[in-house]
Amino acid sequence: MRTALVTGASRGIGRAIALRLGREEVRVAVHYARDEAAAEEVVTAITEAGGEAFPVRAEFGVEGDVETLFAALEKEADALDILVNNAGIVVPGGISETTPEAYDRMFAVNVRAPFFIIQRALPLLRDGGRVVTISSGVTRIAFPESPAYVATKGAMEVLNRTLAKELGLRGITVNSVSPGITDTDMNAGWLRGDPRALAYATGQAVLARVGTPEDIADVVAFVVSDDARWVTGTTLDATGGSGLQ
Ligand code: NDP
Repeated sequence: MRTALVTGASRGIGRAIALRLGREEVRVAVHYARDEAAAEEVVTAITEAGGEAFPVRAEFGVEGDVETLFAALEKEADALDILVNNAGIVVPGGISETTPEAYDRMFAVNVRAPFFIIQRALPLLRDGGRVVTISSGVTRIAFPESPAYVATKGAMEVLNRTLAKELGLRGITVNSVSPGITDTDMNAGWLRGDPRALAYATGQAVLARVGTPEDIADVVAFVVSDDARWVTGTTLDATGGSGLQ
């Protein structure tokens, strides 16, 4: 049985990834920051369906975040096959409104944490393993609502190409998956309960609906499968064709 660490797996896209991998003969470390009850619910759902999972807590963007994560992980697992860097935050604000604090917070959670998580995971990752980062369609489609967020996702996509070259020697693939607008708590504030916002979001994808966490989890399941053994250093667009002209 392979072992996966999915960051931000208590809610939203990470939760769907954890549940999907849990059905794929993968033992899942369900990472969360604060919502312990939600993480426990994911663990229970996986185990009740016959899979294996355990929770690991660590808040990213604070001192010692990566060590906290791996101290918890290594109590349960001594090797990893799959690392999914999913946890991420967006602080809304255009270029004129973005404060240094908001910029630093997004880079700390979306770039610094996954960078050092990958570094710390390298000795644990088995040859033939998988590193997947959840990026965003905003690396392709202009998103003036949060340019600092855009920059964090661009940083990870560029990093993946270089890491793919280095880790390829060990048969480890390194890829990104880019969701479009997806119905999660991240968008709850503007999307849920507002018909005009829903119409706007639906109009972004040529497939004419809002994405679901499961839409993204299914793509991640492909990337970590043997079927994707020849795919590395790239970004899989999972936006439903958002922004196509
Ligand atoms: P949610 O806000 O629904 O869930 C966020 C998850 O990340 C939770 O599990 C949360 O843990 C965890 N998390 C949040 N802050 C921290 C932190 N400081 N340290 C550690 N963990 C943290 O997010 P989504 O599911 O919507 O997004 C998942 C990924 O997908 C992100 O990288 C996001 O940028 C990307 N994405 C999302 C899109 C969307 O439309 N939703 C579109 C494109 C990309 P806890 O429950 O404990 O708070």
